[in-house]
Amino acid sequence: MVRRVAVVGAGVSGLAAIKCCLEEGLEPTCFEQSEDIGGLWRYTDQAEEGRASIYRTVFTNSCKEMMCYSDFPFPDDHPNYMHNARLQHYICKYAEHFDLLRHIQFKTLVTKVKKRPDFSVTGQWEVVTQRDGKEETAVFDAVMVCSGHHVYPNLPLDDFPGIQKFKGCYFHSREYKEPEKFRGKKVLVIGLGNSGSDIAVELSAVASQVYLSSRSGSWVMSRVWDEGYPWDMLIITRFRTWLGNILPRAISDWLYVRGMNRFFKHENFGLMPLNRTSRKEPVFNDDLPSRIACGVVVIKPNVKEFRETSVLFQDGTVQDDVDVVVFATGYSYAYPFMEDDSIIKSRDNQVTLYKGILPPRLEKPTMAVIGLVQSLGPIIPTADLQCRWAVKVFQGRWMSLCWAKVCFLSMGSSVSQQQRACSNRKSGHTTLQTDYITYMDELASAIGVKPNVLKLLLTDPRLALEVFFGPCSPYQFRLMGPGKWSGARKAILTQWDRTLR
Ligand code: FAD
Repeated sequence: MVRRVAVVGAGVSGLAAIKCCLEEGLEPTCFEQSEDIGGLWRYTDQAEEGRASIYRTVFTNSCKEMMCYSDFPFPDDHPNYMHNARLQHYICKYAEHFDLLRHIQFKTLVTKVKKRPDFSVTGQWEVVTQRDGKEETAVFDAVMVCSGHHVYPNLPLDDFPGIQKFKGCYFHSREYKEPEKFRGKKVLVIGLGNSGSDIAVELSAVASQVYLSSRSGSWVMSRVWDEGYPWDMLIITRFRTWLGNILPRAISDWLYVRGMNRFFKHENFGLMPLNRTSRKEPVFNDDLPSRIACGVVVIKPNVKEFRETSVLFQDGTVQDDVDVVVFATGYSYAYPFMEDDSIIKSRDNQVTLYKGILPPRLEKPTMAVIGLVQSLGPIIPTADLQCRWAVKVFQGRWMSLCWAKVCFLSMGSSVSQQQRACSNRKSGHTTLQTDYITYMDELASAIGVKPNVLKLLLTDPRLALEVFFGPCSPYQFRLMGPGKWSGARKAILTQWDRTLR
């Protein structure tokens, strides 16, 4: 019987984990290595070891109605997309409101998580922590890994011949904080993800020239969509997901490409993704097309070779006198505190998790990895629902038979269908990529909180129409079943008002 749960990390995932444990009558202890909550969203001028690091001007890509905790909407007067400081303020309010802080041990680093010798019977873990140089060991019935996935830089220098000869400076985007020290410099940014495009646009205001190199292109979307509404409130709807599922693939691909090109035609800007129909995570940047149009950001293909002061690109062009190179090449996953990290990562470094949460090779399902799944949807409600699901699994009533099957399959030759479905190779490492609504509904169905649209149509047609045709906002998963929130209906019916406010 699970009672004591260790939560590693007090970012948005860790806070959701603490709250879900409390709601189910469990005893969470959260260990946070830094001095405060917020994880990635707590900006500091210097990157800290083992914690995600953001630049000063990071704004959210998901709007406030879509990225809030499912029972804690943002205040009315907050803008739709938020600066990191405002989001951090909201995170603190959430922790205060649900009285979560007293379950967190700050400045406490989890150094080891290992199975107890009797794990196959008890499912228990030994958790070793360090605080002020003092080591402590405690036993827990379950562990929720909420340590973040934007921490360990992926810096593939071997893919860039000649980088050792390069006399300018180069660093990973994790180290980037603000543009001033690059005034007047010629900068090359490598990688067309969200960080790469943000940094290129920001530097273009002060640098003498910015080059943005992309291996395979990306869809670039605006946060501001039709009639100025947030993109995600219009795109992430049950109706669209349903349409995508029933339409033939060719038509759905055509509609997708057309939708992605409505902000601007990617081909004309040299940004067209090589695989145009892949549902790779788009880049959100309202300014990039205009920066390219003004010539202050120049799009380049992949780098072929670095020389002492210049860079040769795959198309044969050479750029001289490059001063700085920013590698916005993403992150690798690492769990340095896992005594046996093959529990989460398999032999070929792939991460395969049942439902994107549970490591499948455990005899007992008493570990959950939160926040690793990537979808077009926001992380806070995803982590929130993952925690609600995981805590139910820990309690084990409905899962045991199913788990025996998952375990049996994964112990065999390969991972089960279910895990493979959400395992995907991307830029040399694995992400668990999935469709947001399909994934959320899958978890919600399992714990009885998926909104029943047909039933709603009969009992509350106005709400049913908003649930089906309107944005799939997090409140939908608090309308019914365990964890129901009495404010959910009102929150859904007033979401557009708050957006306009
Ligand atoms: P984190 O925020 O990384 O928190 C992990 C915590 O665990 C940290 O506090 C860390 O100190 C602690 N920790 C780690 N290891 C240990 C240990 N061994 N012992 C003790 N404590 C430990 N997502 C969105 O939904 N919308 C967005 O707009 C968005 N924008 C983003 C912009 C950028 C630039 C980046 C990089 C990511 C963005 N994301 C966005 C994704 C982002 O990762 C999530 O929003 C979210 O911050 C993940 O939260 P988390 O709690 O899982 O991890």
